[in-house]
Amino acid sequence: MNKTGNDTIAAPATAEGEGAISVVRVSGPRALELLSALFHPAHPPSAPLEPFRLYPGWLEDGERKIDQVMSVVMRGPKSYTGEDMAEIHCHGGRAVTAAVLDALFRRGARPAEPGEFTRRAFLNGKMDLTRAESVAWLISARSEREMRGAIEQIEGGLRERLLDLEERLVAALAAIEVTLDFEEYEATAPPYPEVEEIVREVGERLHRLDREARAGEYIREGLKVAIVGKPNVGKSSLLNTFLSRKRAIVSRRPGTTRDTIEEVIVVDGIPLRLIDTAGLRRPRGEIEEEGVARAWENLARADLVLLVLDGGTRITGNDREILRLARKNRALVVLNKTDLPPRADLERLGEELERRKVVEISATEGKGIDRLREEIVSLLREEFLAGGGGGVIISRRRRQALNEAGEALERALSGCRERWSGELLADELNRARSRVRLVLGEEYDDAVLEEIFSRFCVGK
Ligand code: GDP
Repeated sequence: MNKTGNDTIAAPATAEGEGAISVVRVSGPRALELLSALFHPAHPPSAPLEPFRLYPGWLEDGERKIDQVMSVVMRGPKSYTGEDMAEIHCHGGRAVTAAVLDALFRRGARPAEPGEFTRRAFLNGKMDLTRAESVAWLISARSEREMRGAIEQIEGGLRERLLDLEERLVAALAAIEVTLDFEEYEATAPPYPEVEEIVREVGERLHRLDREARAGEYIREGLKVAIVGKPNVGKSSLLNTFLSRKRAIVSRRPGTTRDTIEEVIVVDGIPLRLIDTAGLRRPRGEIEEEGVARAWENLARADLVLLVLDGGTRITGNDREILRLARKNRALVVLNKTDLPPRADLERLGEELERRKVVEISATEGKGIDRLREEIVSLLREEFLAGGGGGVIISRRRRQALNEAGEALERALSGCRERWSGELLADELNRARSRVRLVLGEEYDDAVLEEIFSRFCVGK
């Protein structure tokens, strides 16, 4: 028996639109019955369709021929969802796919919700949450780095690590347990040094995992890089050069970039969300005011700021002001227009500049852009990407659980030093263990599942 109810769901598994083929998936107790009502194999086999074999034939809705297709069946529990499943490979395109689905729905299947196939797979014990989550990650991967991270997680890398942590906690709990008093035995002191060592080690591993989860999030969401500077220094030109195509409007009149523009580029496997901000200066007119306000906002939230200066003109109070405002940000100073006679007197920027790296470029001639890219990546990698690696994907709610496990271990650590009773120590360790199990998906609630599966597409 499966744990996912008794309805049968169907959805297209391939992207919407025209294509060579389109795959429609069906899962649930009536999947095979629905298929045999509609599908007529070209060479009818004497026995039921064998699982994992493609059969050519016609899909017919009563008298009406829908499409020439290939079909495959999988019987639960040996299927993706753990239920009976069928896949119909029809011709690609909206009308055909819609007709196939329509025939299924009229016979009692219902449209699947986003991620519902994978959710069923999880509920039927076909995969744990760390794997389910990495499936969504793999589908949305934009770079080789993301893909590698997701595949490793699907293979069970993260699961293994969490199981290992749990095992260590169980060992510490067992060591405490034998010292607790029960029946005629008196309680003795817990083996503090042994417990302390385990708690410290597990705590460090949890911390590392949290860093990697943060890296995973950055890799998936992209890092925010704001390009700021006073009007006309070449911010839009720099963005265009990065993108190697025209996107932002380049114009010689100051203040034309009235709104912010965001584009994603992937550098060395790291997606960077480049944000061109409106010229930072005193606004004239309402639209510009809005744009300038947003520029400040972006500056505050950026993971990295590129402060663009015009190498062909003198430095002004405005440049200094912007540099000062970004003093809390991680920032690179980009000296643009180095193809022009040098007139920028950088010493006017004062001591703020001394802590900043200056990269010289010419946006219009494309000079220095490679070096700028390298500087950006090396700055961000250390800080955000745990020094490299692919990161891991753990939803926010479950990362919170990781942190709670860490906090419980912190308390247990002071407990060891302060010689707490065995019961109190065991309480904290049990709390940490239960949080680790939540990350694994051994314990979960609807909110946790909702957060993960709502990110999926329909049909997965
Ligand atoms: P923004 O207001 O900071 O976005 O500046 P733009 O990108 O619109 O550029 C303002 C003007 O500077 C335009 O006329 C660009 O062609 C020019 N410009 C931008 N980068 C360079 C450069 O590297 N060298 C030279 N000579 N001109 C540039």
